[in-house]
Parts: sequence; C-alpha cells; structure tokens
Amino acid sequence: MEKSQQLKEIRDEVWNLKESPLYEERTKNNAYPVIGEGSHSASVMFIGEAPGKNEAATGKPFCGRSGQVLDQLLKHIDLDRKDVYVTNIVKDRPTNNRDPKTDEIELYAPFLDRQIEIIQPKIIVTLGRFSMEYIMKRYGLEKEFDSISKIHGRKFETKFSYGKVLVLPLYHPAVAVYNNNMLDDLKKDFEVIDLLVKETHEPKPLF
Ligand code: URA
Repeated sequence: MEKSQQLKEIRDEVWNLKESPLYEERTKNNAYPVIGEGSHSASVMFIGEAPGKNEAATGKPFCGRSGQVLDQLLKHIDLDRKDVYVTNIVKDRPTNNRDPKTDEIELYAPFLDRQIEIIQPKIIVTLGRFSMEYIMKRYGLEKEFDSISKIHGRKFETKFSYGKVLVLPLYHPAVAVYNNNMLDDLKKDFEVIDLLVKETHEPKPLF
C-alpha cells in the first residue's frame, strides 16, 4: 500500500479515537487531531509532545509560538520544513496545554510507531522530555536514558525494523520562546542535525 494511503488510515483512526480521554474536548471545541506534516520519505523526523491551541485549531503541528522557534532553527541549518516530517507523540491537545499523561502517551504512541515504520527516517529528533523518554525506552536506548539537560545534543545509535537510526534528543523549542540563552543552546544542537544528515547521506552513483 502507498505510504500516503497508510498515513491516511492513521489519520482516520485517530479522528475516530473515541476511547481517548481527549476526544470529547476535541469535538466540543470543533478542534482537530494533529497527525503530522511533511515529506513521506523524510530522512529526518521531528517528534514533539502534543498539539497546543493553534495546532488543534488548524490540524497542523508546530504552527504557534514553538513552531516559529522551530522554523527559525530549521533555517539556521538550511533545512527546508517540507523536506522533513514533523509530528508529536500525543495527537490531541491536552486540556489547557497541560503535560500529557502516561495513559495518553500509551494510547497514542502506537500511531507514532506506525508513522516511523512508514516514513523510515534515518534520524529521529525528539523535542522535549516526553518524546525523548518514549523513543529511548521503546527503541533499545533505556540504558542511555538520562535527564534532558545531560543528554541533549548527543546522538544515540539504535536499530529499527528497517535499519540503523540515529536518535538525537533536543530541548523542546518552547523553552526558547522567551529565553535567548536557550535559543543559542538549541541552535548549537541543531547544528548536530546538520552533521548527522551529512553522515547518513548516501552518495548517488555518478553514472
Ligand atoms: N508543542 C508540541 O510539542 N507540538 C506542537 O505541535 C506544538 C507545540
């Protein structure tokens, strides 16, 4: 089945996820689930936490204040947003932007697992501690798991069903909305993405 068809199936299942504790709030507010956006053959996938108000109002990931920071960081390393894939662990907005709960992460994470298997990124960049913890513990990096202040900007190598993947835990862009020091830290960490892209790039035959 085509990748876009498989991703549409995920969209439809999340759309009808009545067992989610966040479903009622979404429908009451005429809001959208946020599935993900970008290239279906991206080599870099960014995984955030959960949609905020702007995201739930539009169905698009990272389109509010954090999204502006993300765009600035992508520009810093000359990476086009349409060439990467951006998604979240939790696909519906937690009420008043509270942290996602463990049972919500457990409910939505299988959709993220499927998105990874479909898109098959070579580099997974986690944004914030929730996606960092989930990805590291789920995909064989539990021993390396530590607090985000200790391991942000460090690459970890692991294996997915489709091959080798580099996992790079980074701070969530929201930390830099009002803090320029954090923006500088994030810029340095984004420069690591640039190195990893070059490291994983397979040269094409010349003729
Ligand atoms: N914060 C996130 O983690 N994800 C979004 O899509 C927006 C803000």
